[in-house]
Amino acid sequence: MKVKEIIKLMEFSSKEDIDLVSSAFSFAEEAHRDQKRFSGEPYFIHIFETAITLAELGMSATTISAGLLHDCLEDGKATQEELKEKFGKEILFLVEGTSKLGKIKYRGVKRHSESLRKLLVAVSQDIRVIIIKLADRLHNMKTLQYVPEHKQYRIANETLEIYVPIAYRLGIRKLNRELEDLAFPYVYPDNFIKTKKLLKTRISEDNEKLKKFQRSVIKLLAKKKIIDFRVDYRIKTLYSLFNKLERKDWNIDKIYDISAMRIIISNADDCYKVLGLIHGMWRPLPGRIKDYIAFPKPNGYRAIHTTIFTGYGNVVEIQIKDKEMYRESEYGVASHASFKEKKTDKDNFLWIQRLLPFKFILNGNNDRKEKNLDDVPVWLKDMVEYQKTIKDGEDIKEDMKNDFFQQRIFAFTPQGDVVDLPIGSTPIDFAYSIHSDIGNHISEAKVNGKMTSFDTPLMNGDIIEIITKKNVIPKKKWLSYVKTASAKKHIQASLKK
Ligand code: MN
Repeated sequence: MKVKEIIKLMEFSSKEDIDLVSSAFSFAEEAHRDQKRFSGEPYFIHIFETAITLAELGMSATTISAGLLHDCLEDGKATQEELKEKFGKEILFLVEGTSKLGKIKYRGVKRHSESLRKLLVAVSQDIRVIIIKLADRLHNMKTLQYVPEHKQYRIANETLEIYVPIAYRLGIRKLNRELEDLAFPYVYPDNFIKTKKLLKTRISEDNEKLKKFQRSVIKLLAKKKIIDFRVDYRIKTLYSLFNKLERKDWNIDKIYDISAMRIIISNADDCYKVLGLIHGMWRPLPGRIKDYIAFPKPNGYRAIHTTIFTGYGNVVEIQIKDKEMYRESEYGVASHASFKEKKTDKDNFLWIQRLLPFKFILNGNNDRKEKNLDDVPVWLKDMVEYQKTIKDGEDIKEDMKNDFFQQRIFAFTPQGDVVDLPIGSTPIDFAYSIHSDIGNHISEAKVNGKMTSFDTPLMNGDIIEIITKKNVIPKKKWLSYVKTASAKKHIQASLKK
């Protein structure tokens, strides 16, 4: 584990970038000294691997440094003051955001999953926090076998239900696929074995043919004077194959993209030309030609897909894209330069639009907009509308930023259940939203382990413990503390009695 290995992956790095990453590296090494992972390995391996993933995604020196420091407040020996003094406000913000996300737990209650994804976005505020968290989760998933068995399912399920959909919506397919496949055996062990077996028989049949076919494609493109191209093939990942098998009654012969050939060219205009060359040489399967350049997928994916008969007795899906489309298809938002350097707030919040179905973002044409808005949660629509009102080059004020992200706050029970409340809610609102009996008998409230008065507004990510006593009854002044209608109603009802 050398800092050089990280720096090597950083494109266009300046001397300042290298200095920053190097000093974060040594700081983190020191902060985690003598700490061990469940595997018995030094804790710093986890830090190092997180930073490697961030560097591979092409993230900036600031984000990579925050990745190196992401656990040093929670698990390491560092303090907030130290981080702020040594690395500044921005990195401290990213590290704190990542630590906060770590406290959010999904315990398999489906009705909480959308709230949790929403919370993740609200708490993160900055796309970089989510990307650091995804990189962190990737290494945790890679080492999940060392984690105590009773925790494995929860973590894997959380990965699949919460983090994978976010990675997918952000278009970071590389992480999305890896996380899926790492979680798969823990969440659906039987289907994992079944899918793996099916795929194994299929691949061994296909492999030889694919290699031969790859050579023919290369020969054809070279002959037709396409320069600077790459042809490779990928096998469908297990979890996405499993999903498709479920849709196709487990009939593997109905799945045409188990292996796909990728043709990556340098010039976008050549995509259609290459399609023509391929179809001139091999017969395409009708109805399988998809122009995702003219009609990108909802997550922004662009390419041309076609499926052809190879002449070796099998069919193969061919994906044609240029280098930029390829990068975009693997790295999504992480591939956009605007996220690499801190720009204006308008740029910084653009990523939120990525969470929307693609067509909604692109057109101002009202009828199509309506059609695509149905499955977009209201909070997300609000955020995007707000984002659009930020003027070019304008930096919005800190308190407005809070409004923007904190229309609602999310607080937790000590068990990690999430409670969704309007901004300004207090421990009494929290108690009532769990159960009216708990609200009616609240005697003390602890916020993040500290005793707190009943009129204290809760913050995003707070963990609330409510202590009840049988003889406590609602008091009139509580009415001035609460924000939620249901708490008000219960207090009034009880006062009448
Ligand atoms: Mn971590």
